[in-house]
Amino acid sequence: MQVPFYRHALSRADAERVAAVLDTPMLTSGPVGREVETQIAAYLGTSHALLTNSWTNGAIAVLLALGVGPGDDVIVPAMTFVATANVVALVGARPIFADVDADTLLLRTDDVLRRLTDRTRAVIPVHLYGQMVDVAGLRTALAAAGRPDVRIVEDAAHCFEGSLDGHRPGHDSDAAVFSFYATKNVTCGEGGAVVTRSADLADRILHTRLHGMSAMAVDRFSTGRYRHWDMVTLGTKANLADVLAALLPGQIASVDRQRARRATVAQRYRDAFSGLGLRMPAWRRSVVHAHHLFPVHVPTGHRDGMLRRLADAGVGVTVNYRSVPSTTFYRDRAPHGATPVSDEWGAGTISLPCFPDLTVAEQDHVIAAVTGAIHRLQVPEPV
Ligand SMILES: *Cc1c(COP(=O)(O)O)cnc(C)c1O
Repeated sequence: MQVPFYRHALSRADAERVAAVLDTPMLTSGPVGREVETQIAAYLGTSHALLTNSWTNGAIAVLLALGVGPGDDVIVPAMTFVATANVVALVGARPIFADVDADTLLLRTDDVLRRLTDRTRAVIPVHLYGQMVDVAGLRTALAAAGRPDVRIVEDAAHCFEGSLDGHRPGHDSDAAVFSFYATKNVTCGEGGAVVTRSADLADRILHTRLHGMSAMAVDRFSTGRYRHWDMVTLGTKANLADVLAALLPGQIASVDRQRARRATVAQRYRDAFSGLGLRMPAWRRSVVHAHHLFPVHVPTGHRDGMLRRLADAGVGVTVNYRSVPSTTFYRDRAPHGATPVSDEWGAGTISLPCFPDLTVAEQDHVIAAVTGAIHRLQVPEPV
């Protein structure tokens, strides 16, 4: 049996929404995207949502709108996808890596506070694997440390539908950024969104999302007459085309139902793997977990053997993630050994298939493959 790492759940109804956009003259950002933005803001209980063509470009648009640039430091967790640090470097600022909690793998507030300097402009907490960081707590701690000026931009690429004590992404920060990349819980292949409660910041992101221009393409044509535009600030190209935005409304409407199915798969894995000697991240009680990924950590030195055995068994797996400071690009740009928990987790973690449509037979196959591989770790591998 082959079990894919991910399989999207798009339907005929989604395809028909795309077809409807193809019947319009302009495929770029327009009325469909604006409707989805309203839907996202309502779902998350916030005032402003802006669709983007990726998390990466959305985060760049946010950092530009906040005026983060050369001479500034931005604190990011070492255990995350490289994009979290890359966007900081791409706007000319310096990513400073903080470590994560050994149980939850989430950014540690005390480690953020330890790394504050005069150059610190922002922190990007990551809701890793779908479990939310305590953003309200981080905000309070920054204020108590005399740094209420430090901006918080949430990396919510793993957590569209999750919450912590009723707080959703975007409630306690300057902005939260989502990804609708191909493997994410809500996907349109490539896409993303930014939410914020600040009308002023939303207005600035409207510009930094589109070259810094004063009007969107569709708006420029909508009156039937050409309207001049101006460029008011330096921006990037981060708007999402309606042809992709059309894939989102159906998924957003069903995301809570899908989350419940992910939770069932995750709980089954967790029960099946307890007692095998695999480490798994602790789940906090007051969290609604988005279960974007199901990572396990295999005993030191055995990851590649485990990856090979799972591939042989037909199980699609990935690694989320090697710690960012251990990558070739960042190795010489970050202090060595400053984030030991992230480095150690990153050297042994493997992500298993965890999506809503995973059948019981597929789950059984994954469980059997992992259990079998763990039992054979004791035995020397054939050369
Ligand atoms: C996927 C991901 C991103 C990047 O998203 P894109 O939409 O591909 O730019 C950023 N951060 C995390 C944690 C991710 O998993």
